[in-house]
Amino acid sequence: MKIFNTLSRRKEEFRPIEENKVRMYVCGPTVYNLIHIGNARPMIVFDTFRRYMEYRGFEVNYVSNFTDVDDKIIKAANEEGVEAGVISERYIKECKKDMAAMNVKEATVHPKATCEIQGMIDMISTLIDKGYAYPTADGTVYYRVNRFKDYGKLSHKKLEDLEAGHRFINVTGEDGKEDPFDFVLWKPKKEGEISWPSPWGDGRPGWHIECSVMSKKYLGDEIDIHAGGEDLIFPHHENEIAQSEAANGKPFSRYWMHNAFLNIDNKKMSKSEGNFFTVRDISEKYDLQVLRFFMLQAHYRSPLNFSASLMEAAKNSLDRIRICAKTLKELDGKDGSMTNEEEAFLKEADEYTRRFNEAMDDDLNTADAISVVFELVRFINSNVSAASSKEFIVKIKDLLFTLTDVLGLTVFEDEGVDETLTAYVEQKIKERTEAKKAKDFATADAIRDELLSKGIILEDTREGVKWRKA
Ligand code: AMP
Ligand code: ZN
Repeated sequence: MKIFNTLSRRKEEFRPIEENKVRMYVCGPTVYNLIHIGNARPMIVFDTFRRYMEYRGFEVNYVSNFTDVDDKIIKAANEEGVEAGVISERYIKECKKDMAAMNVKEATVHPKATCEIQGMIDMISTLIDKGYAYPTADGTVYYRVNRFKDYGKLSHKKLEDLEAGHRFINVTGEDGKEDPFDFVLWKPKKEGEISWPSPWGDGRPGWHIECSVMSKKYLGDEIDIHAGGEDLIFPHHENEIAQSEAANGKPFSRYWMHNAFLNIDNKKMSKSEGNFFTVRDISEKYDLQVLRFFMLQAHYRSPLNFSASLMEAAKNSLDRIRICAKTLKELDGKDGSMTNEEEAFLKEADEYTRRFNEAMDDDLNTADAISVVFELVRFINSNVSAASSKEFIVKIKDLLFTLTDVLGLTVFEDEGVDETLTAYVEQKIKERTEAKKAKDFATADAIRDELLSKGIILEDTREGVKWRKA
């Protein structure tokens, strides 16, 4: 498997620290609101990476945090007149519901910043002891960026260039800060804000330190993969490297993976522009598997444009796979062993798995992997029928199930059988078939439209008329 590593800016062969194991950390959301569709991209992309590695036989230890203390959470809490914890717990719960609906697996651990304060205090103390951090008179602790020789290695920035660019920035007001690029590890308590006691007085941690601490605690000093959206490369991930490598005296993460951004109608998503969608907004119109499918149709390092028409196209494409799965499920097939022709077909079908894996091995090219799934669907539509053997049908079903499951797409799910609805629709289908036989196409079309208005779609297939909910 090759992974594009932001550190080297090259695709590199993936070699884990421990054989057949992956230690992976993905920066999670700040929980002050429902997650938006941009937040959903890293969740879906890296969940797919995890599923693929598991399918290839790796044991994946997947850690993804919730940032549950932050200015935005405190602001939301003050506006509602509740404790910060009420806001963060509420949105963690909602986030988990969205994740489940997008078929994003629960992480091995979902640590929360507020439960790891002692670990953060310990790491900050180590950094001070080693000369990489310093407290100031007001109780702030800063990381001393120019002490860390490799600063800038992830974002490929040079500290001198950064500093030259910032010569004219007014940095006063931040008492005792030695350098404009020094960043906060611990901030002193402000009135009305949640705080914890520390050797530097009551306060709360800066944002970057939580990921260094949680990653160390749950995965060890050295990890295989650290991931998140590309906006996190600088400063968040650069700062994580500076903290972890200085504190632990070891290289931090071998591979850094970053997803590109999702835009809306080719513009940056923003609340003030009015082009902002939460995952929940999308769920009112679509089953969230459609959103997942939509995201995976693009390579994770390509910017992705979201629009109503692209979502509609994604829905139709996913439906094609689902119809194929439904047809397969309903085929009984013939008893007896596979014919020679079927044996040959099966070999051909295995080629799809090989090409699917090849695409996924190439830096998680889900776009190409999905194209292979569509080729498989076309293959199934033309080569599997009621005349096929049971064994052949089962094997093909398995194949389609496996590949779609790696992508986290549930195409075989039972929609829940509503018997009254089934009886009604089947009666209407019978009437329509009779109308067609009598060449009364107006009535046949009227029946189809009547069903459509009730959200029922009819498909004329070689095996007769099939129906499904829109
Ligand atoms: P935040 O809650 O802002 O820290 O974001 C959580 C995750 O979502 C991070 O990995 C971000 O990089 C990612 N993210 C935020 N906005 C977008 C976007 N528009 N497109 C893709 N990823 C995003
Ligand atoms: Zn992080």
